[in-house]
Amino acid sequence: MNGTPILAFERLVKRYRDGTLAVEDVSFEVQPGEFLVLVGRSGAGKSTLLRCVNRLIEPTSGDVKFEGQSILRLRGSALRGLRRDIGMIFQEFNLVRRKRVIDNVLHGRLGHYQGLRGTLGVFPRADVEAAVDTLVRLGLEDQALKRADQLSGGQKQRVGIARAIAQNPKLVLADEPVASLDPASSENVLGFLRKICKEDGITAVVSLHQVEYARIFADRIVAMRGGSLVFDGPPEGLSDDRVKELYFEAEDGDAEPEDGSRPGPQRVDDSLPGQPHEGAPPR
Ligand code: ADP
Repeated sequence: MNGTPILAFERLVKRYRDGTLAVEDVSFEVQPGEFLVLVGRSGAGKSTLLRCVNRLIEPTSGDVKFEGQSILRLRGSALRGLRRDIGMIFQEFNLVRRKRVIDNVLHGRLGHYQGLRGTLGVFPRADVEAAVDTLVRLGLEDQALKRADQLSGGQKQRVGIARAIAQNPKLVLADEPVASLDPASSENVLGFLRKICKEDGITAVVSLHQVEYARIFADRIVAMRGGSLVFDGPPEGLSDDRVKELYFEAEDGDAEPEDGSRPGPQRVDDSLPGQPHEGAPPR
């Protein structure tokens, strides 16, 4: 029997102001320590779903519960507390490009301080040591004093992971963290993300449009299509036929152009989908 899920989506709906139904009645739970990968082609609603969790987007109806508590009515310090517990990793890294790598990682600690220390970004020695340790774990110790914009894409995303981990989160949300990276860097970054989350007992919800990476790294895969949940199970359960359905076979009303006017655009990314390629690391 499972205990309280760390995260629960309950009949979640998000309709944007222009009428786009981006998330339609989605319910599922995430257990503590899981490495869950959310797959679906571009426009399926993955990013919207993730952003409802830390309230970067306000849901239209339904609920999201974090450790059993609804997040929808959180305000002020309670909302800041939620955001401290949830680290976020972005497709475009969102680093401060002109700042050193170590300063970007320490930025993850800012949510823990109020007042002058937070404003000035003056960090206790223990934080600096923890940030350095995290960089070492991510193989970035030689990059610590470089400016973030001098790094390769894969290194930048490892800094993004380090910043999220420095926050000491219970949950990490990663929104297409490898969409801008080449295949070798993608596997490297996802391998580091999974390893660190497992070592530290951090739950992860990672959105990816590449099913092959989901199959390599996920404990469990949730697939979305046109805003709805269409698969929830172990990677072995996502058959090639199911993947074809998810990505290639248009359903009624699901083949509109990607103009933001409705979910489920027909454009399919070049990188889609396939078997893990040769040399993929073991899970
Ligand atoms: P994914 O992350 O799977 O690519 P998104 O959550 O970004 O999907 O988008 C889901 C649907 O919502 C798409 O049809 C997209 O065009 C639409 N959408 C995303 N953001 C907005 C917005 N701010 N306003 C209107 N429609 C949006």
